[in-house]
Amino acid sequence: MKIDSVSSRSNAEIVDYLERRCEALNLKTQRYSYRDEAGSDKINLIALAGTDFSNTQVELALVGHTDTVPYDPNWSEATNLTERDGKLYGRGSCDTKGFIAAALSAVETLDLARLNKPLALIFTADEEIGLRGAKYLARIKPLRARYSIVGEPTSLQPIRAGKGYSLAEVIVKGREAHSAYPALGASAVFRAARLIHRLETIAEQLRDDEHPAFDPPYTTLNVGVVHGGTAKNVLAGECRFTLEWRPVPTQPSERVLHLFNAAIAAERQADPTFACEVDASRADSGFETAPDSPLIKLLEQATGLESGTVAFGTEGAQMQALGSEPVVLGPGDIREAHRTGEFVPVAELEQCTEILKHAVEQLCA
Ligand SMILES: [Zn+2]
Repeated sequence: MKIDSVSSRSNAEIVDYLERRCEALNLKTQRYSYRDEAGSDKINLIALAGTDFSNTQVELALVGHTDTVPYDPNWSEATNLTERDGKLYGRGSCDTKGFIAAALSAVETLDLARLNKPLALIFTADEEIGLRGAKYLARIKPLRARYSIVGEPTSLQPIRAGKGYSLAEVIVKGREAHSAYPALGASAVFRAARLIHRLETIAEQLRDDEHPAFDPPYTTLNVGVVHGGTAKNVLAGECRFTLEWRPVPTQPSERVLHLFNAAIAAERQADPTFACEVDASRADSGFETAPDSPLIKLLEQATGLESGTVAFGTEGAQMQALGSEPVVLGPGDIREAHRTGEFVPVAELEQCTEILKHAVEQLCA
């Protein structure tokens, strides 16, 4: 079985496959589809055990994204799952098809007729390109869950909180002129440099708002790309840069934007012709589940690992929007994800199946 489900393609093929597996278990399934900007069909699939779509309040949801990041075409194992030294190599093996396989195996070996409380499997689209499938579900709210386990490679450590992710493009305007006569224009590069210098000060300020559960324990920001000017002897007419920040879950994403807007206002005060646009394209919130949540306690006990936090984005916030206390957990190491040579250890895959079985038995019994 090999199915290429890179985010740029439709995920219909893998959803067809997952739906057949769920139907074979007599689960009730429903698709929640949309079209992406390229016109490809993108499908979120929900499968229910112990209830149907007339009552969509479930006790536990197991959540896995169906898409993967792209792969190098020279990596022959990318779509040919290969076992070597107790590891399974292939694109998506650890991020996040391994978790999906473990969730299906867990459900297949459980006696579903004995569950007193409903269970859901949620398979999402487009996680790797901005959590779009999960955001779609968070908006239309096709179900409510009390607890959720979101599959991501955490080496089976339960993750109870994650930082958010926000992104903006900043376009600073200047006025072109011959560089021998700078008074005739205004350099967008110098203007952007002043603004970026202020961002470094904002980054320092953000350290005051501490969230000790995280490493680093505060909101971080980054200017990752700067583009400006056209030639060495021309005052730059435009300079663009990206501003990315990862807010701790106790801080609203807008906090950084407010500080940045104040910095722009200060520049404008010093130079009334200062011109700049801010195009904020993403504001994904983080999530946090209390350390004494029954799901955290259960997973800490089942894995023998203390719960932790991560600084990268996950679908945890969207699952929180569906009413649940989310935990992120899955086989494989995040440092192996998104690389050529991605793999998942077979032992972790099997252990994950047992952990998920145990969680379903404890919570849905
Ligand atoms: Zn993932």
